[in-house]
Amino acid sequence: MGFLDQVLTRLKESMNIDEEDFIARKIYLETRDPFKTLVAAILSQNTRESNAFKAYERLEKMVGVDPEKIYEAEYSILEEAIRPAGLSLMKSRAIKFLAWRARKKGWFENLMSSNNIEDIRKKLTSVPGIGIKTADVLLVNLGFPVVPIDTHVRRVIRRLGIVDDGEKNYIRMQKKILENISLDNCLDLHFYLIKLGRTYCRDSKPLCDKCPLNDLCPSRNSEDSGRQVA
Ligand code: SF4
Repeated sequence: MGFLDQVLTRLKESMNIDEEDFIARKIYLETRDPFKTLVAAILSQNTRESNAFKAYERLEKMVGVDPEKIYEAEYSILEEAIRPAGLSLMKSRAIKFLAWRARKKGWFENLMSSNNIEDIRKKLTSVPGIGIKTADVLLVNLGFPVVPIDTHVRRVIRRLGIVDDGEKNYIRMQKKILENISLDNCLDLHFYLIKLGRTYCRDSKPLCDKCPLNDLCPSRNSEDSGRQVA
């Protein structure tokens, strides 16, 4: 059992994950569709989940979350539909490019039939607007042993001492995480670390006194915990 398994057990005892906390998970469970799940993950970049939900609903209503419909839609309509999620120019381009790829018969099926994480990441990140974190959101939802590292996760793992303060390399950070967690706990760890970062381990003024990890965390109430690390 790794340190992050211990962390996860503690977090599960004290926090709940709600349906509305993670749009990509909700859409994946409802549809089992990798295209729709990736669209949800793109919409959730750099915004609150509530904004991503609004944008997804508008996109569904105004265009349809379907590769053919999105490919055929005018950029102006796409941008207007997803406006609540912010960065609508960049996100509409990413979604349209993804739709163009996904229209090709068998593109997603071929991609997903691979068990090679690096291969899938490489193909997904060749779509402008899909970075490795967004690719990993899809992968972890599909059951691959990866942990997407967003600003919350990066901040929390630094404060927990899993990675050094100066570490910025995504792959090295993920390797450290995977050394400290059972592989079948990756999905839950993804949810709970983000929820911890949103709820207690905030960027400025983390709530260490209330945090369920405060007896395990080397940064509790330290200057480090309040420092801008993300
Ligand atoms: S004790 Fe403080 S610094 Fe450590 S994980 Fe909790 S909120 Fe973050």
